[in-house]
Amino acid sequence: MTSNLLHPVFRLRIGMRLALAFLVLLSFTLGIAWLADDRMSTLAVRYQQLATEQYEIAERVDEARRMSDAAARKLLVLISLPRAARVPAYAQIDASNALADHALAALESRHLDDGRGEAVQSVLERLRNYRESYLQTADLIEADDLKAARAMLGSQTEESLNRLSEALDQLTRQQRATATHQSAELQARTATDRHVVWGLCGVALLLGALLAMGIARGIVRPLRRAETVGHLLATGDYAHRVPVTSDDEVGRLAAVMNTLADAVGEREQRLLRMAHTDRLTGLAQRERFVAESAALLSACRDRQRLAVLMCMDVDRLKSVNAILGFDAGDAVLQNAAARLAAGFSHGAKIGRLGGGTFVVLVPLDAATDAPLLAQRMLHAVEHKVSWQGHALDLSVSVGMALFPEHADTAETLLRRAEQAMFEGKRQRQQHLLYDPSLESSLQSHLSLLSDLHQAIGGGQLRQFLQPKVSPLDGRLLGAEALVRWQHPERGWLPPSEFIPFAESTGRIRQVTQWMLEQAVNTLAQWQARGIDMTLAVNVSTLDLQDSGLPDRVATLLRSRHVPARWLQLELTETGLLASGPDPIRVLRELREIGVGLAIDDFGTGHSSLAYLQRLPVNELKIDRSFVDGVDRDPRRQALLRSIVDIGHSLGLEVTAEGVETEAELAVLRRAKCDLVQGYLIAKPMAAEAFEAWRAALARPLERELALG
Ligand code: C2E
Ligand code: MG
Ligand code: MG
Repeated sequence: MTSNLLHPVFRLRIGMRLALAFLVLLSFTLGIAWLADDRMSTLAVRYQQLATEQYEIAERVDEARRMSDAAARKLLVLISLPRAARVPAYAQIDASNALADHALAALESRHLDDGRGEAVQSVLERLRNYRESYLQTADLIEADDLKAARAMLGSQTEESLNRLSEALDQLTRQQRATATHQSAELQARTATDRHVVWGLCGVALLLGALLAMGIARGIVRPLRRAETVGHLLATGDYAHRVPVTSDDEVGRLAAVMNTLADAVGEREQRLLRMAHTDRLTGLAQRERFVAESAALLSACRDRQRLAVLMCMDVDRLKSVNAILGFDAGDAVLQNAAARLAAGFSHGAKIGRLGGGTFVVLVPLDAATDAPLLAQRMLHAVEHKVSWQGHALDLSVSVGMALFPEHADTAETLLRRAEQAMFEGKRQRQQHLLYDPSLESSLQSHLSLLSDLHQAIGGGQLRQFLQPKVSPLDGRLLGAEALVRWQHPERGWLPPSEFIPFAESTGRIRQVTQWMLEQAVNTLAQWQARGIDMTLAVNVSTLDLQDSGLPDRVATLLRSRHVPARWLQLELTETGLLASGPDPIRVLRELREIGVGLAIDDFGTGHSSLAYLQRLPVNELKIDRSFVDGVDRDPRRQALLRSIVDIGHSLGLEVTAEGVETEAELAVLRRAKCDLVQGYLIAKPMAAEAFEAWRAALARPLERELALG
């Protein structure tokens, strides 16, 4: 397109342009050389002519003079010779005269200019005068009037000869002046020609420089532009193009580079799309989701529409992976993705952030509001996903953030929806709308987290103990160690305030280590006083991923000479299932040491019996939700009984948590529960209080329980 507008010269190839330029330069140089040669040869010819002319004229003048002199001398001799001897002398005189005439005729025929012609005419005239007087003298000699002849010769002839000689001198002078003048003229012309040749050489140089510059500009500039664009391309900036300003090799190179940039840019876009697309579900990954959401939000902004961003997490996805395998987990995700795609219109953007977290951005209209959409999202996935014909009991948590109320950029909106989702999980709500107050709670948790580091080293943590007793005779059989934090500003903090955050940041390992040390110390003291009972420490998911845990526990027990069987570790059922594909190896090593292992909060994690069977545990702690009010519902009593039976059939000791009333205790006793723990027996207490309780209250309780 551009090339049509170009001067025809720029449409030629560079090779042709260079050849043309050299041809022009060469022709010009040859022209100068020819001109110089022509001027030089003209000058040489002129010099040659001048020299020849000079020589010839001098020669002729000299000859005329010599011959005239010779004739005069002969005449003088004639007077003194006898007649017979004079005849041949006349012939000689005639010959000399003829030669002089010839010389002067030659001069006349030259048609000399610059006054020399006049000088020649004057010479000729004087020669004629001389001839006349010479003839008269010769006539007098032949008439034998020698006296008159002598007088004639001495006066008239001599006189005319002298005047001839003067005229010849005059001609010679004239000729010299002319030669000098012509020579000066030639010199001036030579100087002019030199200037002309130098001037033309200068023009040739200038022309050469201009041509070189023109060609260099025509080649170097586009190449430089191509180089700049090439560098930009290398940095991944595909927006720039090399301007195609010619149809030559450089122009074609620019066009090829542009095609290359298009192709590479397109391919990179495709790769980026692929990289930002979740392979399993075909949904956008975080980066692509944010980019697409930004575009949708800007359209909403233009049309003044509201939108909601929902963040949904499929709880227990890890459990599905651990129990049923990754194929089942993948099927759950694909199923959930398909359900979400079917549940929302094309106007919505759907993505998967990783794990079991899905996000949906939906523009709102008058008929729909955010909670309604959250319900739709929940219903699309919860209890609907199946695998190999079996319905999977998945629960989901949804966090929501509104545009533009909570944020007006896609990133912030997404972050807020995620915050709402995490907070919803913490508050055990299925869906939660973002609230700016979440920020301050998040901030306070963040500052707590940094405080926790100092708390561990600074003695702000405490080990509280809660007894575990036999429901039959009330005997104290063990205790559970529960952490408490005496915060310098906030007072006593329950574990729920900081354990989840310590877990999500990995700081929980330090808490566990501290609690293990405390527990082993307590066991060592009990052992020294002859008190035989187990002490349970809660360990978290992250601790089970630490392959060094069994060694550390063993070292700790050895250092205080505490038998391993007195130490029990409690692992939550959900934590166990979420702790990666094989937490069993760490558990086996702990069992090999002799440490007791309990499944905590049993019944909340939906683990299958098949999975439980594979776990090397020896105790099952029924979650307090099964105990709470169990005495008032016969069906729940039956359920509780079957859980205890299952535990027993797996060879496990069964403990019930959260026993608060006598009625609940009675149900547990009938269900043949092995151990009970709860506020009815005692709340968690500091070590000293526990000691006092153990000493003072255990015996009456034992009695009471024994009586009941
Ligand atoms: P958990 O291991 O199931 O501990 C039992 C929780 O139930 C304790 O709460 C205890 O105070 C409470 N509880 C006991 N009896 C009753 C009752 O009759 N009624 C009611 N309503 N509650 C009762 P706490 O101490 O607040 O601990 C909560 C959870 O925090 C624990 O649940 C445990 O999962 C975790 N936790 C506590 N200490 C630690 C620790 O040192 N490390 C780790 N990783 N987790 C800990
Ligand atoms: Mg526990
Ligand atoms: Mg528990």
